[in-house]
Amino acid sequence: MIIAEVIVDIAHSQVDKVFDYIATPDVQKGQRVVVPFGKQTLEGYVINLKSQSSFEKDKLKSIIKTLEPYPLITEEFFALSDFMIKHYNLKRVDTLRLFFPSAMRGQKVKEQMQTVLLVNEFSKEFLTQQLKKSAKNQIALLDYINQNEVYIKSELNKRFGQGAVEKFITLKVFTEKQVHKDRDVLIKDRENEQITLNSAQKEILDKLNTPKTHLIFGVTGSGKTEIYMHKIMQCLKEGKTAIMLVPEIGLTPQVLSLFKARFGNNIATLHSGLSAGEKFDQWQKIRKQEVQIVVGARSAIFAPLKNLGVIIIDEEHDSSYQSDSNPRYSTHTIAKFRAKYNNCPLVLGSATPSIESFYKAQQGEYELYELKTRVNNQEMPKVQIVDMRNELSFGNTGIFSRQLQADLKDCIDSKNQAMLFCNRRGFASYIICRECGYVAKCEDCDASLVYHKEENLLKCHFCGKKYKALTNCPKCNSKYIRMGAIGTEKVVSELKEMFPEVKVLRMDFDTTQTKFAHANILDEFAQTKPSILVGTQMIAKGHHFPNVTLVGIVDADMSLHFSDFRNTERTFQLLTQVSGRAGRASKAGKIVLQTYAPKHYVYRFMANYNYKAFFERELELRKNSKFPPFAYIVRILITGFDEQKVIQITSKINKDIEKLKNDQFIFLKAMKAPVGKIQTKHRYQILMRILPTNFEKVLNQIYEVVNKNRNNDLNVFVEVNPNNLS
Ligand code: ADP
Ligand code: ZN
Ligand code: ZN
Repeated sequence: MIIAEVIVDIAHSQVDKVFDYIATPDVQKGQRVVVPFGKQTLEGYVINLKSQSSFEKDKLKSIIKTLEPYPLITEEFFALSDFMIKHYNLKRVDTLRLFFPSAMRGQKVKEQMQTVLLVNEFSKEFLTQQLKKSAKNQIALLDYINQNEVYIKSELNKRFGQGAVEKFITLKVFTEKQVHKDRDVLIKDRENEQITLNSAQKEILDKLNTPKTHLIFGVTGSGKTEIYMHKIMQCLKEGKTAIMLVPEIGLTPQVLSLFKARFGNNIATLHSGLSAGEKFDQWQKIRKQEVQIVVGARSAIFAPLKNLGVIIIDEEHDSSYQSDSNPRYSTHTIAKFRAKYNNCPLVLGSATPSIESFYKAQQGEYELYELKTRVNNQEMPKVQIVDMRNELSFGNTGIFSRQLQADLKDCIDSKNQAMLFCNRRGFASYIICRECGYVAKCEDCDASLVYHKEENLLKCHFCGKKYKALTNCPKCNSKYIRMGAIGTEKVVSELKEMFPEVKVLRMDFDTTQTKFAHANILDEFAQTKPSILVGTQMIAKGHHFPNVTLVGIVDADMSLHFSDFRNTERTFQLLTQVSGRAGRASKAGKIVLQTYAPKHYVYRFMANYNYKAFFERELELRKNSKFPPFAYIVRILITGFDEQKVIQITSKINKDIEKLKNDQFIFLKAMKAPVGKIQTKHRYQILMRILPTNFEKVLNQIYEVVNKNRNNDLNVFVEVNPNNLS
């Protein structure tokens, strides 16, 4: 007898449910199946096959059917699943669901079919005699078709009329057949450019063979992408495959068409902008090994390519590589696992590597390469730092400094283009005195306080401490206290007042909800001169606008005062990226950076594009204050509808964690989460900072505590160095 161990796909369960079912010999490990479950039938995954069950034979039920004729989960992904379960304390079913398009669950998507017509052998004379002289469409159709060719039925219907087509089917000229219809998403709208690597690039390419992690540190335009493409080409020649990851908002049609032009039909893509059907088709192409290259966003790290020759993570510092909802994982960690499994190199690239990655490179854990100049030797645009504290004393209460106004005017007068950048992150905003630059901070944590509008309170996201909202500045007593960020809408409306005759476009989350909105805004901007594009992070990446000569950063401090240990790092990364938008072609560019903290080291180093000096300074601070990479931040997040229950479990877990506490713990506290409620679920957390020695062991003990206290009414997640502490 063949017994299959099946994990049933139950949505809200807190634990995996594995059951034995009787299977037929054709059932394979990794296949999805439908099984009886109580009075229901459910989908499940065959995770193992065996010949005996510890249950009584007559109590066992049989698998009803398999859902696909092939296993969805291959051996590599079972191994990855095992790893993720242990490393992240996840349920198996949550890991398995990552490995294929979600719409396949519940059969919400399937192959798109179309009818084609095969032309049989026929005698034209004989047929001509059979057709009426008046049947013009039929005669035209007969003229059009060739023997042994295949035509799409709907197209012939449209051209020659359904009547004519049906007639030919009855005459047995055509045989109908159902075939797969691809929902193709990649357009080729440019020609491939043959590029020979320069010596700096070549030297790096030659070293990317060892199965290690390689970090390419090179300014924007230094030729990193060209190295990636050459590396991919090498893999293809060796019969291997490649995954190339780009941050979600960096994965523009331009990037995809660049790869399409170079690699033709050998590429597929996976990202969140695809419809369920498109995702399904792309994924199937990959599964069937019809393509050797996948270019995609975070989820593409799970692309079922076999025989990987390289994994590339471009803009490796980008926060979208971390998943911060269930199941939480870091793309780098998954990539390292897959690279090791396939014995292939992992290549990270960035102009502003994450502090953690650069530190690893410095420590010798990663190989480090540097590209010091742009391919065309062009200078980076000049950065001017504007002290916004001076503006009030000149009676300027607006959001644009006098400098930025003057530069905007120049830019418009010379019929060029400008980009204005407003960095808005989530709901949160800091509190600043516009007169003296004072920023409200937590007494205990040196973290900026976050204004919570609904409660009219300031909160520290590190320790949970609450403070009264400010009406006057505690330092200079000014009443010009700003709570809340400057939004893109506000910038647009002020611009329209200042330059009524100039085209102002806005690109942010709200204006890009429809499928082509993103591309349409960029197209319109490209075609209008002069014009101004106002936007969030979304405008920081990709596109190349030769006429952009001015980039204004309206509120540089926004991410600096964000309550997050990576805030300074993110500010540096973001501003460097934004400034890369100006002066990309022959015209020189300028950056105007508005700040209330003009002396902050992040601006000084950024203005000189001195990443390494910034890195050293930041690392020193993290070392002294014991933040990553010198400690781990661990958060246990407990959420549920019943607040009493959430509190009760939080304090129970906290008590158990207290027992683990040793001198490795430099912080441990249970509290309400900074955002206390999301979608009527109450949120509590236990925050820890733990020194790195033996961290794995401590983390496993934390997992044990959490698992022991699991409860089906609540969600309990453990996060390590999360992106977001709200
Ligand atoms: P990065 O990824 O570091 O931003 P890219 O690889 O996109 O840099 O290169 C920037 C520009 O320079 C692109 O237009 C690219 O086609 C071009 N380029 C890159 N390498 C070379 C080379 N060796 N010779 C000529 N042009 C190159
Ligand atoms: Zn605090
Ligand atoms: Zn003040």
